[in-house]
Amino acid sequence: MDAQMHTRANELMEELANLLANAENSDGSWKTFDQMELAANGVGDRLSEKLAQKSLDRSLAGRPEAPRCPKCDQPGCRLDDPDPRVIQTSRGEVQWNEDEYFCRKCRKSFFPSDRAFGIPR
Ligand SMILES: [Zn+2]
Repeated sequence: MDAQMHTRANELMEELANLLANAENSDGSWKTFDQMELAANGVGDRLSEKLAQKSLDRSLAGRPEAPRCPKCDQPGCRLDDPDPRVIQTSRGEVQWNEDEYFCRKCRKSFFPSDRAFGIPR
């Protein structure tokens, strides 16, 4: 992250904090510190989930058209209809459409995103 991006990210985080900080409960009582921390953690979890999803989307968009077979390194043939897949992270869910490829030489399917992202199947 360059200095300009870092400055902009700090400005956006300040704006987000100003928008979402709330010292009162819905019944008008003052929040305890634990309640404030819980609300802050919830915002952090949502932001973390959004960042992971966006990073995954960008990574998938930048992948080559024909991933290579993990066993023989031959280009695979993409099979139709990617499967929707969801992975639970420590801070929320991330989802993507998982492409399946077939290696004619090995006569096996493979899932490039598993290897690229280190996801166990
Ligand atoms: Zn192969």
